[in-house]
Amino acid sequence: MRLKIDFHVHTCYSQDSSISLKQVVSFAKKRGLDGVAVTDHNTVKGALKLKTKEILIVPGIEVSTLEGHLLGINVTTPIPAKLSMEETIHKIHDAGGIAVAPHPSAFYKSPPSRSVSCYDAVEVMNASSVPFSVLTYFSRRFAERLGLPQTGGSDSHYAPEIGSAYTVVESDADVDEIVSAIRKGAVFAAGRGIPWKTRLERTILGLKRRL
Ligand SMILES: [Zn+2]
Ligand SMILES: [Zn+2]
Repeated sequence: MRLKIDFHVHTCYSQDSSISLKQVVSFAKKRGLDGVAVTDHNTVKGALKLKTKEILIVPGIEVSTLEGHLLGINVTTPIPAKLSMEETIHKIHDAGGIAVAPHPSAFYKSPPSRSVSCYDAVEVMNASSVPFSVLTYFSRRFAERLGLPQTGGSDSHYAPEIGSAYTVVESDADVDEIVSAIRKGAVFAAGRGIPWKTRLERTILGLKRRL
């Protein structure tokens, strides 16, 4: 079956996100997603805490390595930050997960090293990256050069951003099957950049919270 999964969502277990665990489920359903990967900055706490039968939850993490960000998908144990990219990839594999290079062209977002080639997939669509189409183009070229499967995710930090970009996976609704479908390349990225109206709302709400 064809599943729509947003592989890059930050919950309130990331310091810079306001999304509650309940909102992950309600907004994912609203957007017609079959599942999401919870990928908080350097922690799997939110991913482990989120239990639901309504959508599929893929546990994950976004690790701050010494050479940029790295997504660990299907990871339930914490992966230490501030290691080299290759060492982090090995740790993700040892934990039973796959390593996805997020936003490789977004120079202002701590992109993963382009001199490393042993990623399992490349996130070619990252809905929060600006300018979206240009960065998607360059990220696709990076994935093609390495011959790697292409995924998409929203990188959302505010609930209405969930599902702006996502991955279509040809797989049964089971986390291990989904991961092996990514490895096989039975995936493609779809969606769009986060609309300006939503970005503006998030900024205003963020400012209000600080006042
Ligand atoms: Zn990132
Ligand atoms: Zn992120």
